[in-house]
Amino acid sequence: MRYISTRGEAPALGFEDVLLTGLATDGGLYVPESLPHFSLEEIRSWRGLSYSELAFNVMHPFVDDAIPAEDFRRMLDETYAVFAHKAVAPLVQLDTNEWVMELFRGPTLAFKDFALQLLGRLLDYVLEKRQQHVVIMGATSGDTGSAAIEGCRRCEHVDIFILHPYQRVSEVQRRQMTTVQGDNIHNIAVRGNFDDCQRMVKESFGNQSFLGGKTQLAAVNSINWARIMAQIVYYFHASLALGGPDRSMAFSVPTGNFGDIFAGYLAKKMGLPISQLVIATNRNDILHRFMSGNKYEQHQLEHTLSPSMDIMVSSNFERLLFDLHGRDGLAVKTLLEKASKGPVSIEDYRWKHARKLFDSDAVDDKTTCDTIREIYQQNEYLLDPHTAIGVHAARNCRRDPAVPMITLGTAHPAKFPDAVAESGLSVKPPLPAHMADLFEREERYTVLDNNIAGVQEFIAKNWKNT
Ligand SMILES: *Cc1c(COP(=O)(O)O)cnc(C)c1O
Repeated sequence: MRYISTRGEAPALGFEDVLLTGLATDGGLYVPESLPHFSLEEIRSWRGLSYSELAFNVMHPFVDDAIPAEDFRRMLDETYAVFAHKAVAPLVQLDTNEWVMELFRGPTLAFKDFALQLLGRLLDYVLEKRQQHVVIMGATSGDTGSAAIEGCRRCEHVDIFILHPYQRVSEVQRRQMTTVQGDNIHNIAVRGNFDDCQRMVKESFGNQSFLGGKTQLAAVNSINWARIMAQIVYYFHASLALGGPDRSMAFSVPTGNFGDIFAGYLAKKMGLPISQLVIATNRNDILHRFMSGNKYEQHQLEHTLSPSMDIMVSSNFERLLFDLHGRDGLAVKTLLEKASKGPVSIEDYRWKHARKLFDSDAVDDKTTCDTIREIYQQNEYLLDPHTAIGVHAARNCRRDPAVPMITLGTAHPAKFPDAVAESGLSVKPPLPAHMADLFEREERYTVLDNNIAGVQEFIAKNWKNT
């Protein structure tokens, strides 16, 4: 399988190189040159497979001959064995034909574990083969950092540096990152905000000379194709559990960077019957505004009760734009260069096509809290604020009650106790057993000034240069 850039100018790469690359050299994102397509008969034959067996069938065409099948199977078995539920992604029923798929049973309690547990293993495998080392540098507002650290803690060929804004992530989120022991794990608290962290990461990827040519940077955010790939699997998993592929499904997806929902769009293109995909955003609603009015325009960042979806632009939306433009990389390049300077629209017929693919909704904090409270009162089931946004959007946008509606449950409510409290409920979501002592564990992190030279010097000094 070859991968091409959404901006049409960077060279095509194989799976291994795509794994190790962040942005393409032309500033674009890598996508598969063509998608595998599965017949209904083939999908039907996957009923009853374990999550990891299903994951192999869905992902193998993307990995192709880059990794021998046996090795890839073993990696998948190991990846999904660490989840704290036998079904890996269990479905919980909310109402008649309405479900939440719990994607938060992994080690860090958010859906990002599905991809990052695998990414860590893939990276180490490829680096061992090549006898190569990488430095992972990433910025986090919370969930990505802990999932990446957990996924890479045992990687021999990886040093991981995660930047978070000092005193601006929740205590649970910080402790999930800073209590993981390992001499390849480095947490940096930057005296600045998330955007400052992200800017430093971006600039460092652009100019890696501070590493002295002895290692290279690798990306763990969802511009990395392997993350999207791993997220396609659970759409198949949910469908097969509820009578697919012989009936079609609807999904509602809490969305920030458009990674998770883009994976659903790919599942559909790969042959899975999906009749509706709902983009569920919080007040940072650039995607909802685009879907409603064909205007793609950056607004100020708003801080909400669902911080993992607090974004101004959605990086993976570029991958959809590429398809909407008939995979014309130059057209995407022109559009996004314009978009960085002000609002843009796309041709009406392309936009209408996008509206056929997706419905959308934007949900404010008050409605998020109302939804958490309502579902708890109805079902004694606690939603985290991101999932609550998905459930509200699902109900608001639902077209056909005969089609099962599945909201992706992206995080465990114990990760976001503030939102639960704000919803007026007096219940406190307990941390699962494997994290019950989180507040007693020793923390390790370094506080640095909001200054890229200092951060780069710290990285250059502390990666294990062997
Ligand atoms: C990352 C995250 C999201 C957003 O996912 P995208 O793939 O960026 O759209 C939603 N909910 C939670 C809990 C997350 O951690």
